[in-house]
Amino acid sequence: MARKWQNWARTASATPLDVVAAVDPQQLAAQVERAAAAGRTIRVIGSGHSFTSTAVANDIMITPGELTRVRAVDAEAGRITVEAGIDLTTLCQVLDSHGLALTNMGDVRVQTLAGALQTGTHGCGRDTGTFADMVVGLELILGDGSIVRVDANNDPDLFNSARVGLGAFGVVTAITLAVEPRFRLHAHEFPASFDETTASFDAWTAAHDHVEFYWFPHTDKCLVKHNDRTYDEAQPPGKFANWWEEDFLSNTVFGAMCRLGRAAPGYIPILNKAAARVLSERDYVNDSWLVFTSPRNVKFKEMEYALPRSSLIPALTRVRKLMDDKNWRISFPVEVRSVPADTSWLSPATQRETGYLAFHAFDRTDHEWFVAVEEVLREYNGRPHWGKMHTRSHDDLAPAYPRWDDAMRVRDRVDPNRVFANDYTRTVLGD
Ligand SMILES: Cc1cc2nc3c(=O)[nH]c(=O)nc-3n(C[C@H](O)[C@H](O)[C@H](O)COP(=O)(O)OP(=O)(O)OC[C@H]3O[C@@H](n4cnc5c(N)ncnc54)[C@H](O)[C@@H]3O)c2cc1C
Repeated sequence: MARKWQNWARTASATPLDVVAAVDPQQLAAQVERAAAAGRTIRVIGSGHSFTSTAVANDIMITPGELTRVRAVDAEAGRITVEAGIDLTTLCQVLDSHGLALTNMGDVRVQTLAGALQTGTHGCGRDTGTFADMVVGLELILGDGSIVRVDANNDPDLFNSARVGLGAFGVVTAITLAVEPRFRLHAHEFPASFDETTASFDAWTAAHDHVEFYWFPHTDKCLVKHNDRTYDEAQPPGKFANWWEEDFLSNTVFGAMCRLGRAAPGYIPILNKAAARVLSERDYVNDSWLVFTSPRNVKFKEMEYALPRSSLIPALTRVRKLMDDKNWRISFPVEVRSVPADTSWLSPATQRETGYLAFHAFDRTDHEWFVAVEEVLREYNGRPHWGKMHTRSHDDLAPAYPRWDDAMRVRDRVDPNRVFANDYTRTVLGD
């Protein structure tokens, strides 16, 4: 019987004809071979945390199943090889137990490793970049069912295409990451005005390992976060200090405010001002993966754009004016981050130092305004996050990616019959 699948944000759904739990690469290779011979399509899902329909599988859906094993850990060399469906929390725990850690992470750790990679997931960092940047080897099943292993020396074109590959360059079965000795982060969070934050962002990002900020629409207030590497003793946030992450941003208080704003949008500016007023400064030290990530239990929809780093603040300033001019009611803070350039051909951060602007709309509220914001970001040669909502298609995306044509040639080579296609890949990569 057909089983309906829905993503975390309830913005994409599928009714696959067959659902197959992954067991091992050999079983999946046979599955791909059979699908290809029958002219069917096959997609692997992760944890469904993409907001776009990138994971949608209406024919054969592969779930991570048992493809979550740790294959090898070499603490001395700083390498771990894991199967693709491992979730990031488990991965961090395994690394920690070997005295190791991921160099950088995004905001949450519920995604599968392959899923996070395939859409270009990132956090923020002065010297450390996206997830794809940590990958040194991939094992993949290609469109003919063959299993290959690629890295920077062995089929580098496929390696550069498939690290951020939207699931269109093969089924990723295993990933080798360059990792480093376990470290802690000293987090310093503080409120600041929009003008101070935007004027200081360049200096802060030069001075600290990881810098991000949240700007509260309808207010002049930001919450700034600086994270710096340390080997000091852990000093986790105290009960009250934890309020922002545990209650406000993630859970009850913010959820209640958003529901109030949804019922009475006219109150959103007042609610945002009240929220911004209670922001407070806090310092804490904890294991890196516990500082990088936090729970996000309030449902939302999201659009995020990768911009040339030098355009980040000008673009944000323009969007702020647009929001004021249009008098939209926006309850969620805008998240601002930056990373160094990376080398994956389809990564939104490819070949340019990148600043990210992320816009959120509370669950079941209007997000039509994303489109008008997107128009501004396109003027800055913005590239959409593949896992977050956008309206772009392959003809206008191609010029934004210097190695687009090379990546498409690789796609034709490894999946000529488009066994790995879905509507999303047809829209953004072409038929
Ligand atoms: C609350 C929340 C917070 C987030 N925070 C961040 C953040 O801080 N930074 C950021 O950049 N993004 C963030 N995201 C976006 C998220 O990291 C990405 O959308 C990511 O791709 C989701 O991973 P997943 O495991 O859920 O994969 P899915 O969304 O299920 O799938 C993503 C893609 O990977 C493909 N795929 C999965 N497994 C395989 C495989 N084995 N082989 C080939 N293809 C595969 C799927 O087909 C699909 O194309 C956030 C999302 C949410 C909901």
